[in-house]
Amino acid sequence: MPAGFHRVIAIDGPAASGKSSLARELARRLGFVYVNSGAIYRAIAWYVLRRGIAPDDRACIAQRVRSVEISCHLENNESRVCIGDVDPTNHLRDDPVNKAVSQVSTVSEVRDIVTEKMRNYARAYDVVVEGRDIGSVVFPDALCKFYIDASPEVRFRRRAAEGQGDEIAARDRVDSSRRASPLTVAQDAQVIDTSDLTMEEVIAKIVEQLKRKGLPL
Ligand code: C5P
Repeated sequence: MPAGFHRVIAIDGPAASGKSSLARELARRLGFVYVNSGAIYRAIAWYVLRRGIAPDDRACIAQRVRSVEISCHLENNESRVCIGDVDPTNHLRDDPVNKAVSQVSTVSEVRDIVTEKMRNYARAYDVVVEGRDIGSVVFPDALCKFYIDASPEVRFRRRAAEGQGDEIAARDRVDSSRRASPLTVAQDAQVIDTSDLTMEEVIAKIVEQLKRKGLPL
């Protein structure tokens, strides 16, 4: 990592690939901070909807996001976000947010703000960061990069089992095709397909790689 940054483990992948559970568990085992970048994008999407702004009104979103305070802090070693003095954590997975978040995330002013928030975490702590562009754009010099994938059927089943009406195929389409920082496999990322693996099996693969990098696990 460049000077001024702590150690970063980047975990990218499409919706419902299992990366959140993995990233959280990995951070716990390593004693690193867990940073969920999707939660910050979701908080901004929630705010946009709450202000009555259409998710495709890019100019208005860009202007609003510059003028509202977005503050990030830690709770139990995990990232938390407040926006305009409100903690929207309980609403981040509401259906309207699921539907709007990918579109809101295409706005480059939004991406710049979230990217800076993630870098601020890494200036202060060793971090496991999950998202879509962590290894490719936010932390191209991350110590270790993983791309967590699973078949569309498995991902759909996982999300349905959580009781969520999340249209993951639609989100994946927007996330992979947008101009700014699309979802992609970073050049030096290890790809892990979790379709037929248990969480422990995936963790074992990751731990093996981290040990090679000299991390105490
Ligand atoms: O990770 P999660 O599925 O909660 O992310 C919600 C949405 O936030 C994604 O579908 C994507 O549109 C956006 N996102 C992003 N870049 C990231 C993380 C999330 O564009 N690094």
